[in-house]
Amino acid sequence: MNRYDENFEKRFWNNVDIKSKDECWNWKLSICGSGYGQVRVSKPTRSKVNTHRVAYELFFEHIPQGAHVLHRCNNRRCVNPNHLYLGTQSNNTDDYMKESGWHNKYNTKFNEKDVSLMKRFKLAGFTYNLIGELFGHYGIGVAKLINERR
Ligand SMILES: [Zn+2]
Repeated sequence: MNRYDENFEKRFWNNVDIKSKDECWNWKLSICGSGYGQVRVSKPTRSKVNTHRVAYELFFEHIPQGAHVLHRCNNRRCVNPNHLYLGTQSNNTDDYMKESGWHNKYNTKFNEKDVSLMKRFKLAGFTYNLIGELFGHYGIGVAKLINERR
């Protein structure tokens, strides 16, 4: 079901200028005419897709049909999952802040899905601290979650 294998995921994040949770993470390779990063994917064809959509899928797993992946930061090269959200072209930042589950994660327990995402990020070479920043959790806490639920 997953379009991307582990190697793809690793290579993908290697080509991203990964910074802190709130900064833009720019795609380091090719940029298409409209300013979005692009990458070739093997499935279903060797087609080019926009990197921010790939980043969203790698992180949150699924883009509902017809949905757009939008940038909060207006930087089209950016693939920081924190800066990406689903919506229509008319969504604005206020809607994002209200509807996003992201901010709730700071105060709620992590579910299985969160933990499995953390594991995938670990496999992709992220440090516990960076994963912790992404999820609003301490690095040591992330390590504990990942290792407890192997
Ligand atoms: Zn950004």
